Amino acid sequence: MAVTTTRDAFIGGEWIAGDGETIEVRSPWSGETVGSVTASSPSQVDSAVAAAAESFKTWRKTSVLERVEICRRAFTICMDRAEEIAQSITRETGKTIRESREEMIEFTADHFRRASEDVLRHAGKVLPSTQERSNDKRIVVVQEPIGVVAAISPWNFPVDIAGIPIVYGLAVGCSVVWKPSEHAPLCANLFAEVLDDAGFPAGTVNVVHGRGEVGSQLVTHRDVASVVFTGSTATGERVARDAGLKNRVLELGGNGPQIVLADADVEKAADAAITGCFYLAGQCCTAAERILVHESVKDPFLAALVERTKALRVGDPLDEATDMGPMCTSEVLQRTQEHLADAVAKGATIVLGGGHEGQLHEPTIVDGVTQEMRIAQEETFGPVAPIMTFRTLDEALEIANATEYGLTASVFTRSLHDAWHAAEELRHGTVHVNETTNYWDQLAPFGGAKSSGAGRELAGWIIDALTETKQITFDLAP
Ligand code: NAD
Repeated sequence: MAVTTTRDAFIGGEWIAGDGETIEVRSPWSGETVGSVTASSPSQVDSAVAAAAESFKTWRKTSVLERVEICRRAFTICMDRAEEIAQSITRETGKTIRESREEMIEFTADHFRRASEDVLRHAGKVLPSTQERSNDKRIVVVQEPIGVVAAISPWNFPVDIAGIPIVYGLAVGCSVVWKPSEHAPLCANLFAEVLDDAGFPAGTVNVVHGRGEVGSQLVTHRDVASVVFTGSTATGERVARDAGLKNRVLELGGNGPQIVLADADVEKAADAAITGCFYLAGQCCTAAERILVHESVKDPFLAALVERTKALRVGDPLDEATDMGPMCTSEVLQRTQEHLADAVAKGATIVLGGGHEGQLHEPTIVDGVTQEMRIAQEETFGPVAPIMTFRTLDEALEIANATEYGLTASVFTRSLHDAWHAAEELRHGTVHVNETTNYWDQLAPFGGAKSSGAGRELAGWIIDALTETKQITFDLAP
């Protein structure tokens, strides 16, 4: 049943109808209308920022225990509603229901628990005087909540990714205005209900809907102190320009290499490539967008990958048995097809798949990929395993580093020396050894090098981005 709502924006603790365009959400699987929301007008966006700025005045002064208690309540409510929100994510984006449950239970709900623990242990510092020969100075370093945070999020983890700055922001005493993806606005509203029901005071968290222009208004808004943006590199570059001197974290696109060295466990590397290339139909920033295989193990690796790919159950994302669902948008599906056509025109061979039916793209393996192909240089964001070969580790590292991106890389080897050398030479924010590129630890720093982003998120790293560091100097001399 389609959800048509007049609960279009959540501002100052009230749900209101939007004043902008109607945004219809269609299921990428069935094409049916899932629901719609009405975008916020510029004056409604202003009201949301004003509500956040007003509530920040008192919220920043609440005790850490009060904030932690609300986070703990939110965890329970979020777990209670996880299945409902997961179903909405799947209907809106085409993610499989198992992937949406993972998003809600393992990632999103736990942000509340992790943030509570992290803020309880978030300590300042006392520094000695190094300017004067005196024992009278005490320099206290504190991190204060930065103010109004604009959280702008993509559709592929529509609740989890936004949940990082929202939950950590609220936990450290910031207030938030969230602009969810226009492709997944309904699950965002459900998550906003969780925050409201948990008892975050009116105005501390606000939601406005719309496309890029609504995000852009937030980024340039005078009263927004910090922008936490996750999305494509193209949009991120614009956000970086528009944000000016504001504090910001940019989590952008990737073109992750998975390197399989001659001594690798080929079976394990093939398992990793399945997760790396086909989880969420390849629509992950950390997807294995290039598989670099040593020429001596190319044949057994490819055989293992083909066997596993053929076993994937592709289809209805709401079906519990489905391993891979449809692609979310026709634009990304078209780009995937263009990258494949370009690769074939330049000499690559499609070993498996290559076609699509509606939004459902076949899991695809393409062999003989070389660096000048678009599929090797750009983020494809589709269910494709592009195979490239190399002869030496240094050659592999050169190829792996030869794109503008630098988010996540992985290397498969039994050699400690080669693993260490690769980890140090790969210009990526994360390097996994003997693990898929799509491996995420929720307490480790996450973020990209080069055009994959700026700043880091998760745990203490996102707290740094949501706080202003202040020194307070005391002179104790009588
Ligand atoms: P997108 O860049 O199209 O949109 C992201 C968000 O930005 C949306 O909410 C959109 O409405 C908004 N937006 C668009 N124009 C804007 C502007 N000028 N100012 C402010 N906001 C604007 O990205 P998408 O298609 O939703 O997501 C896919 C992309 O996100 C991929 O490139 C993927 O790699 C990347 N991504 C990165 C990470 C990461 O953590 N590095 C995680 C998930 C997705």
